[in-house]
Amino acid sequence: MSGTAENLKAVRAQMATAGRKSGRNPDSVHLLAVSKTWPAAAVREAYAAGQRDFGENYVQEGVDKIAELTDLPGLVWHFIGPLQSNKTRLVAEHFQWVHSVDRLKIAQRLSEQRDVHLPPLNVCLQVNVSGEASKSGVTPAELPALARAVAVLPHLKLRGLMGIPEPSEDADLLISRFRLLADLRDQLQGESGLTLDTLSMGMSADMGLAIAAGSTMVRVGTAIFGVRNYME
Ligand SMILES: *Cc1c(COP(=O)(O)O)cnc(C)c1O
Repeated sequence: MSGTAENLKAVRAQMATAGRKSGRNPDSVHLLAVSKTWPAAAVREAYAAGQRDFGENYVQEGVDKIAELTDLPGLVWHFIGPLQSNKTRLVAEHFQWVHSVDRLKIAQRLSEQRDVHLPPLNVCLQVNVSGEASKSGVTPAELPALARAVAVLPHLKLRGLMGIPEPSEDADLLISRFRLLADLRDQLQGESGLTLDTLSMGMSADMGLAIAAGSTMVRVGTAIFGVRNYME
């Protein structure tokens, strides 16, 4: 087995354990393999081990990798990084998911630029769950209005929420950030009648905590591919 295949197996086992401990159905948590900074060959190895969903942070790097891997059927590409308006077209054209929408203008551009012959682009709204400790993400107070506006855009499908707590060793703090995101999802569903089936939260270091708090999609890079050479 390749190192990547072994790592994937270990991550899946860790996810299953976390799911079982919190009484979750193991099928309810999906694994997004974050391949940023790693070459197409690393994605091929993970693909050979059964992985289909991959996440990228940088538009051009992601688009280049997608182009190198068109021979692999069934790949699903997720854009998870900060998104500027001059890059929305490439994302709308090449990815199936975007997790990092935090402004209506970006959502409107993605919807306008999505090819009408493709299925709608799946979107998660990134929420700032760390208050002043983080700059990215819509504030919890502004979330309901943004969600209602995004939900009616024709070429997007609003799937849920994404959150990244500030880096911390404090498990209780991290859990409280994840619970906040889960509560916001529940409130939004209750008040707006939207169906939000996705809670994108948890990374290599905190996936167990995120799963305990209700994550449906963990975004895992380091634990699968190894330590990256440059910082994100
Ligand atoms: C890099 C990144 C990840 C993966 O982080 P690891 O700690 O390597 O698992 C997940 N989500 C986002 C948004 C990232 O930028």
